Amino acid sequence: MPFRDVVGHRRAIELLARSIHRDVLPPSLLFAGPGASTRDTAIAVAQALNCTQLIVDDSGLAADSCGRCSTCTRIARSMHPDVLVVAPGDSGAIKIEQVREVVDRSSYRPFEGRRRVVIVSSADALVPHAQNAPLASLDKSLGPLNLEKDKLTAVICAGGYRSSAAASMLQKQGFSNLLNVAGGTGAWVNAGYPVDKL
Ligand SMILES: [Zn+2]
Repeated sequence: MPFRDVVGHRRAIELLARSIHRDVLPPSLLFAGPGASTRDTAIAVAQALNCTQLIVDDSGLAADSCGRCSTCTRIARSMHPDVLVVAPGDSGAIKIEQVREVVDRSSYRPFEGRRRVVIVSSADALVPHAQNAPLASLDKSLGPLNLEKDKLTAVICAGGYRSSAAASMLQKQGFSNLLNVAGGTGAWVNAGYPVDKL
């Protein structure tokens, strides 16, 4: 589903479209809200990142997928090799094996698209070990991001444990200006810092 068909959330949708157009989309995004609209938005992001007939428009959404090309239709049907979706299984939980599998697959270059996208649907269903699994791949996933190691880089997670581990990994990689957000996302929100909610 292209951005233009997602119901509501105009401000956030325009921000996402602009970030994709300028190629400054953050490597990770957290969409919080009722299931259908957040899932639609995640799919729209994956399509806009990979569509072969991207629609660029100076007056409305800066960049949006066509919604009709082979890439867009396969992403919508969860059949595109570069857009990986992780969702709870029969148990209602997302298990560590599922996360390890997508982490392994996501460390390769895209097969045919421009950007590989991993969508974790219902991330609150991740079992605790599964929440920590992507940390192990941080070293490998940094390469394509092309971050400037002397610029301020903030790491944040829910409780503070994973961001501490991530900060020490980044330090070893040469990052010299790191900020580990004490108290995690809860403290960030409580302090009144901005969060774009969908
Ligand atoms: Zn398309």
